[in-house]
Amino acid sequence: MADQSGYLPQPQGFATAAIHAFQDPEQWDSMAVVAPMVSSTTFKQYSPANFKKFEYGRSGNPNREILENCLATLDDGKYGLCWSSGLGATTAIASMFNAGDHIICGDDVYGGTNRLFNKVCSKFGLEISFVHENSIENAIKPNTKLIWVESLTNPTLKVIDIKSIADIAHKHNLLLAVDSTFLTPYFQRPLNFGADLVIHSISKYINGHSDVIMGATITNNEEIYKQLKFLQNAMGIVPAPFDCYQVTRSIKTLALRMKQHMKNSLEVGQFLEKHPKVEKVLHPGLPSHPQHELFKKQTSGCGGMLTFYLKGGLAESQKFLSSLKIFALAESLGGYESLAELPSVMTHASVPEDQRKVLKITDNLVRVSVGLEDPEDLIKDLKQALEKV
Ligand SMILES: *Cc1c(COP(=O)(O)O)cnc(C)c1O
Repeated sequence: MADQSGYLPQPQGFATAAIHAFQDPEQWDSMAVVAPMVSSTTFKQYSPANFKKFEYGRSGNPNREILENCLATLDDGKYGLCWSSGLGATTAIASMFNAGDHIICGDDVYGGTNRLFNKVCSKFGLEISFVHENSIENAIKPNTKLIWVESLTNPTLKVIDIKSIADIAHKHNLLLAVDSTFLTPYFQRPLNFGADLVIHSISKYINGHSDVIMGATITNNEEIYKQLKFLQNAMGIVPAPFDCYQVTRSIKTLALRMKQHMKNSLEVGQFLEKHPKVEKVLHPGLPSHPQHELFKKQTSGCGGMLTFYLKGGLAESQKFLSSLKIFALAESLGGYESLAELPSVMTHASVPEDQRKVLKITDNLVRVSVGLEDPEDLIKDLKQALEKV
């Protein structure tokens, strides 16, 4: 197991909850140990508008309910909701606000979040500012309603001090939403640091098998939950029952997977740090990361994400990425398989160029999602690809 000294303690009972929460077999007639999959789109009623629990598959489904409750438990929250994608969750959150409202978004967020806020929400009259985390308080205006941050950020893996941003948000009567996708509830539980809302792209580590697109929101705030639950049905941004079934299965190994992602990514990061063709490695779990100490104060470990600057430019990055054999050159992250990509032309191509420059998303910045393969094989692969540069 990876050295976790200095981090928050591991969450108590996490693996047990991931395996059992809300899945007591006695609640269904068959006593099946694995929750049965219910794909029916509609449910019979006793008399008009008098039904047992579920009515119509968009408004509710047994497999979705199990997953939502289980995810809420894992994030130390009361209320969970699942969405057809991570961006579907973001769409719903943005829809809680009115034309003329202002949202402050961290400057280094998932490219699709940037695109959604910038190109879509703005059409509906929401005003969005992308700001560095140190400038959030200065960016607050009378119409500001929400602060949105990602921690870890993507792709430069900055650590955002959740507690201090939550204090700012609450001082000004605003909500704080934290996209916690890169760390999962196993390593980071933002509600405990004052966040009002946690967002996950389930498509990444939580499902972890690269075969489901889904999102989730978790909150302790009943008012937010009710609004989002209404929007889930009203807007129809719902996941399929089979996908909920699959994710419920996947999270049973989340704790195991995250521990191994951490161990593997630290080994890969240490290797890259010493390599002469690598300019700099950004990995929050390594002491060289400028915010390593802050990181340990609000998490109990890190996942498999790391970013590094190759010596060179676009040509060198392309040569390196095309030479990898085990790492797949692909977008996305958080699966059992290792992936590598070039954010400037792939995941973050939709971020305006001037903003990319400020964030140092340059053509030699490579983002790596370290998977669960044997770390020595991953290192061998990186080594041979670096030799080709
Ligand atoms: C992938 C991702 C999203 C979007 O999730 P989808 O499920 O792809 O819609 C949002 N935030 C982060 C940090 C992500 O990595």
